[in-house]
Amino acid sequence: MDMNVSQLLREPIGATRNYDIDEILDLTGEGNQNRIKGACNMVRTQRSILVRCNLNTEMELTCSRCVSKFDQLVRIKFNEEYFPTVDVESGAGLPPPEEASSFTIDELHTLDITEAARQYFLIAVPMKPLCKKDCAGLCPTCGQNLNQGKCACPTDNTDPRWAKLADLK
Ligand SMILES: [Zn+2]
Ligand SMILES: [Zn+2]
Repeated sequence: MDMNVSQLLREPIGATRNYDIDEILDLTGEGNQNRIKGACNMVRTQRSILVRCNLNTEMELTCSRCVSKFDQLVRIKFNEEYFPTVDVESGAGLPPPEEASSFTIDELHTLDITEAARQYFLIAVPMKPLCKKDCAGLCPTCGQNLNQGKCACPTDNTDPRWAKLADLK
């Protein structure tokens, strides 16, 4: 998601640009094709370009309770400063930003939000996804998906191995 910001860098502080985003990216690095849609706003600040993005993507997750697959909308929202590495007028190199982890604009004045989108996406994806809030999960005994109805297992929580022993008495 490259954007050329050479014009914006020449403009006075407070100048803005809006971009509509609709791109296919591999956000997880696993060969997935994630379609990302949304909008980004850029503001020229004294030292940088402040990028505010509001994006979303739909991705297939696996429910942590019932292991069924489902599609979920993942929101990717971030505000990040991007620091120029060269002066847009003179082409002279600029000192690197104070924080080494800051995002930069390359020497061709290309601002690429892909890495930020990837980082915020990974934060936004739930660690233990649920297909629905009250997912009933799987029966621990027979493995039936309890969202699709009850299984025939006894409802008291007796382990079937102990039940056999009980019969012997
Ligand atoms: Zn589930
Ligand atoms: Zn069961």
